[in-house]
Amino acid sequence: MGTMLDTVVIGGGAMGSAAAWALSRRGRQVTLVEQFGPGHKIGASHGSTRNLNPGYFRPEYVAMLAEGLSLWEDLEQESGEQVLARTGIVNHGPDPRLPEVAAALNQAGIRAEFLSPAEAGERWRGIRFDQQALHMPDGGQLNPEAALPAFQRLARARGAEIRHHTKVVELQVMANDVRLTLESAAGTEVVTAAQVIVTAGGWTEKLLAGAGGSTGVRIPKLRVTQEQPAHFRVADEGAAWPGFNHAPGTAAEYKNWYSPVYGMQTPGEGIKAGWHGVGPVVDPDRRTFQPEPAQLAALQDYARAWLPGVDADSFEAISCTYTTTPDEDFILDRIGPVVIGAGFSGHGFKFTPVVGRILADLATGTRPAPEIFRASR
Ligand SMILES: Cc1cc2nc3c(=O)[nH]c(=O)nc-3n(C[C@H](O)[C@H](O)[C@H](O)COP(=O)(O)OP(=O)(O)OC[C@H]3O[C@@H](n4cnc5c(N)ncnc54)[C@H](O)[C@@H]3O)c2cc1C
Repeated sequence: MGTMLDTVVIGGGAMGSAAAWALSRRGRQVTLVEQFGPGHKIGASHGSTRNLNPGYFRPEYVAMLAEGLSLWEDLEQESGEQVLARTGIVNHGPDPRLPEVAAALNQAGIRAEFLSPAEAGERWRGIRFDQQALHMPDGGQLNPEAALPAFQRLARARGAEIRHHTKVVELQVMANDVRLTLESAAGTEVVTAAQVIVTAGGWTEKLLAGAGGSTGVRIPKLRVTQEQPAHFRVADEGAAWPGFNHAPGTAAEYKNWYSPVYGMQTPGEGIKAGWHGVGPVVDPDRRTFQPEPAQLAALQDYARAWLPGVDADSFEAISCTYTTTPDEDFILDRIGPVVIGAGFSGHGFKFTPVVGRILADLATGTRPAPEIFRASR
């Protein structure tokens, strides 16, 4: 039987850390286990910048944006850490949905305004604009290196147990509880939990596929890719930088693009730019951490053509994983004693504290997740 626990959170990345924080705020006993050490760079939540890009129009995501802005503030107040730099976000390029985004955001009280290419170019001379741009001043950059330790520290201060270097090697899902086999430097240990929250990122499918016991856990297929943005050296020190997203069109000038481009300034490291969700499919335990050369060369071409404020030949490549669902919507659901938070498809970080709240709701039976996140969809 081993030790009996209330809730075990598997995975100490963004989503698991936020779930532990949310549960601890409700006075629930929670144990978070993470296979690697604090601040590891092997999953999806490392580095010091992520865009809080409000560029959504679907009601579920717009509601989560509004809630997220308030929960990020809660985290900052509780921890005394600055987590969000409100630099604003600008989305440009021939994206036909921008008017719908602007309307949905303004209706939700999140600011959004169109600027002409000349106005945008005057404000942000490090970026080239050739058509109207949607400026969202309430967006900005989140800092995972401040946020994750803050979530875990606050959860621990409320009694949560945070165990790094502890891997779940086996999961036995019963009708009313879950048996977990844990491996750490201290050896192998079997514990039982009333429920588990699986926030295992790129390892989710592996962990659930190996799950034995009486309750099968079926989720949509997940594609794990190795993504490779890069930090380009700032060439124009005086330029101001928002976070940015650039959608391609069909004209010849976009033919070498792999996908839309996202980017932002990372203080002390340069201007990050990257393709979205087109990296090679990988096994998270067998990665090269090396950039795919053709994509990298195309990214440099992008920087030469559209980012006059950077030196396209001076850069640091980054390696990170996306775990993507077929429809790019998240999986937030409960199946028996198993709560799942997975498939954040390269756009989850901005919603982290809200995902934590939804996972805590599912773990405590408070309320279901929005329909679009159901595992059985
Ligand atoms: C390059 C890049 C850029 C991005 N940019 C943005 C952005 O600008 N805006 C945005 O909103 N989002 C962005 N994202 C997405 C965002 O970072 C992710 O959605 C988010 O970090 C996912 O967090 P996670 O907790 O699900 O995954 P992870 O951080 O990967 O956490 C999963 C954890 O589970 C642990 N684990 C797995 N299996 C086990 C086991 N058996 N036992 C114990 N521990 C286990 C792993 O070690 C890992 O730490 C970006 C992602 C990448 C890769």
